[in-house]
Amino acid sequence: MTKWFDTNYHYIVPEFCADTQFRLSATKIFDEFSEALALGITTKPVLIGPLTYLKLGKTPEAGPPGFDRLALLARLLPVYADILRRLAALGAEWVQLDEPVCSLDLTDAERQALRTAYAALAAAAPSLKLLVATYFGGLRDNLGDFLRLPVAALHVDAVRAPREIDTLLREIDGTKLLSVGVVDGRNIWRSDFTAVSPLLAKARALLGDGRLLIAPSCSLQHVPVTLRHEGKLDPEFKSWLAYAEEKLAEVVALRDLLVGIPRSELGLNATAAASRRTSARIHRPGVNARVRGVAAADLSRAAPFLGRQARQRERLRLPLFPTTTIGSFPQTDAVRSARAQWKKGTIGRAAYEKFIEAETLACVRFQEEIGIDLLVHGEYERNDMVEYFGEQLEGFAFTEHGWVQSYGSRYVKPPIIYGDVERRQPMTVRWSAYAQSLTARPMKGMLTGPVTILQWSFVRNDQPRRDTAFQIALALRDEVLGLERAGIAAIQIDEPALREGLPLRREEWKHYLEWAVNAFRLSAAGVRDDTQIHTHMCYAEFNDIIEAIAALDADVITIETSRSNMELLGAFVSFRYPNEIGPGVYDIHSPRVPAIDEMEQLIVKAAGVLPLENLWVNPDCGLKTRGWTEVRPALLNMVAAAQRLRVRFGSPTAAPALRS
Ligand code: GLN
Ligand code: ZN
Repeated sequence: MTKWFDTNYHYIVPEFCADTQFRLSATKIFDEFSEALALGITTKPVLIGPLTYLKLGKTPEAGPPGFDRLALLARLLPVYADILRRLAALGAEWVQLDEPVCSLDLTDAERQALRTAYAALAAAAPSLKLLVATYFGGLRDNLGDFLRLPVAALHVDAVRAPREIDTLLREIDGTKLLSVGVVDGRNIWRSDFTAVSPLLAKARALLGDGRLLIAPSCSLQHVPVTLRHEGKLDPEFKSWLAYAEEKLAEVVALRDLLVGIPRSELGLNATAAASRRTSARIHRPGVNARVRGVAAADLSRAAPFLGRQARQRERLRLPLFPTTTIGSFPQTDAVRSARAQWKKGTIGRAAYEKFIEAETLACVRFQEEIGIDLLVHGEYERNDMVEYFGEQLEGFAFTEHGWVQSYGSRYVKPPIIYGDVERRQPMTVRWSAYAQSLTARPMKGMLTGPVTILQWSFVRNDQPRRDTAFQIALALRDEVLGLERAGIAAIQIDEPALREGLPLRREEWKHYLEWAVNAFRLSAAGVRDDTQIHTHMCYAEFNDIIEAIAALDADVITIETSRSNMELLGAFVSFRYPNEIGPGVYDIHSPRVPAIDEMEQLIVKAAGVLPLENLWVNPDCGLKTRGWTEVRPALLNMVAAAQRLRVRFGSPTAAPALRS
């Protein structure tokens, strides 16, 4: 599975090889069309276009060298042609083919393939009207080829790329229809009719009534279904939102307003837009002033890495190949049920916290017993690594029914960042300080980073994402300093979503990475030299972003490498990554317990290419989804592997020292 463009929806990546054959193996699209038709509704079936299908697939590495998936187009098109003919025979008038790859960087060969494909498909079912849709970004250098596709209509994303509309209107040929996606299908905000109407009026003036279609910017799959059941949101906040049903109503209302049919919600729409501009719940005096006041010095640790490393070694006194974990320990049924009872009110806050304390204590004792060097508290108090912080920060809202599809039948309910973000009180200090009070070994504080919080939420659309990220970063910076004051000597700031925030177009990567890195640094850089900052990312494709990863300047980074057999460390090696690094040795996606030898060998491999005194021994990611029956032996083996490594590389097995 991989993420669908820059959404949080995952699809299964099709794999193609040189002898792949295509044939129609499902009747879903025909059955559903016929079912609707029998009810008197002629629908517009929607298919992934052939270029998007091929481009988003992958070619297994074992394939013949030089094999190009585009070569499969000739074999694929007859199947598409067959589908189109059958839909036409069933009575379809329109079919939509989605080609969102038109918002990506395409090669000349890919643009050529796009033209070839649609020339063939247009000829295959001449009675059918084809609508080719792109979304999630502008067309840019693909605009000319897209405009000239020999189809009846084109759809574009006017939310993400409003500035291209003028060119499209000017250059579209005299017979094509243009579908203008003006209602944001990617976010939960209500449209601002006064902002959108002029664009539609211009399009209408240039195209005439018969050639303008009004639409959501993309599929509504990426927003929740309906606001109707959100009974607990207060009216002002609710007035700012639109889910899929409300977005469809907006499309219709915009059409009516355009042609002069009065709509009663026009007033409400204007009131909502005005209140978002002025509401004191959104605009908190001081927050943006603090963001504007961020100075270069706030983004840098006082001393360079080598100086800090020496101070941290003195303070932490960890052995060579120190062992640690990524944060969470098994979220057992007991933990989940205690949280559910507390949320329902069956047990009180005190009883719940007592329960969490007992779990934390058991987790700390377990780590001490097996000999982990840098401990964690286990994250039992957290439901989710973003929600936990969002619930305690100003500017975040949580809905009852704001579910969106993540993959298959799995849904997530992202928080909504609607206003200036502020930290009211410490969020994690209580748990980290409690855990530290139980042990003489160092306890690692555990936070979710600003980019990950941003990336896994619905984000406000009235200021740049960068500004929101900086607001979150400042709140986290205060938390980091609170942890430091509470005596926590190592603090991990997780950024598993840093990579998935990369813009779709390469030319925008630099700008994104610059502010994303700075947001992380802003959250981390306030600490003393002898406080060790960790970060964690659960992937290991770092080749193209390694400079940015190094620029985070975390003292330690833990990454996911066990399944790739350390191949993925390559980026760190060729870059000569200077700071400490924990390449994961335990694949936490599997119930399998890795053997001592296996984990030892992985680190031996890493030690062959990276300075061994910079290496940590840890799992790939948190242990939240695993059971104790696997975690116990796996971590025991992991610690044994580290001990063997210390012997092998000739360093004394220093006993974990007392905290300073
Ligand atoms: N600290 C988190 C945990 O251990 C990190 C999770 C993640 O990287 N997705 O669960
Ligand atoms: Zn992870």
